Amino acid sequence: YVRFVDVKKSYDQRSLVVKNFNLDIRKGEFVTLLGPSGSGKTTCLMMLAGFEDVTSGQILVNGQAITNVAPYNRNIGMVFQHYALFPHMTVAENLAYPLVVRKLPKEEISRRVAESLALVELDNFGKRYPGHLSGGQKQRVALARSLIFEPSIVLMDEPLGALDKNLREQMQLEIKRLHEAIGFTAIYVTHDQTEALTMSDRIAVFNDGVVQQCAAPDVLYERPENAFVADFIGENN
Ligand code: ATP
Repeated sequence: YVRFVDVKKSYDQRSLVVKNFNLDIRKGEFVTLLGPSGSGKTTCLMMLAGFEDVTSGQILVNGQAITNVAPYNRNIGMVFQHYALFPHMTVAENLAYPLVVRKLPKEEISRRVAESLALVELDNFGKRYPGHLSGGQKQRVALARSLIFEPSIVLMDEPLGALDKNLREQMQLEIKRLHEAIGFTAIYVTHDQTEALTMSDRIAVFNDGVVQQCAAPDVLYERPENAFVADFIGENN
């Protein structure tokens, strides 16, 4: 469904931060890009979202090259570590925003905002401002906002990085629940091995701009293909 074919990226025309990235992601799959800081994971998401050009190679969605499709038309939802909620807008206004820019009718916007609040169990929070929410609540609003225009693909870049351990575990379950209920294709970025192992259908282990191995969590754990994967997956466990 999403295919990266021989994708390379350099920001400065000299060194490649992504070197020959190949990955096929099935529709509805939950795939995690796991790797140390600076290994090129975020860059891969940015190229798929259309915020960075591909230096060479191709990205295909549903068989179509997306190089010339504007970010706005890619039907991709995004969630980041630092929520990026608009502080001067209420929760309901934040949720409505992607629908307002898409010029949906008012009644449909109100209906979807209400559904969306219910989806993340924040029914009574529509009138609050982000500054009056906990970290976990903010992240649930950010998640709901990324889903509200019913994107087929959702990109999540360290969405739980700012939360404490208990909240992280709660939110991992929440994200999995939404993924199972809605069935979007999820591409998740983290440097946390445990998080990747518990959440993913498959994990692509990155190091230095290269995928070292891409496999289901149990396969990576039991049959790592090289020392980097073995060490990296083994850490924390
Ligand atoms: P992290 O987990 O720290 O976000 P990452 O694996 O997502 O790391 P990237 O953010 O993709 O890695 O960065 C890969 C490399 O590209 C890094 O060396 C980074 O400094 C460089 N880089 C990222 N964005 C830019 C940019 N806009 N301009 C120049 N260099 C960049």
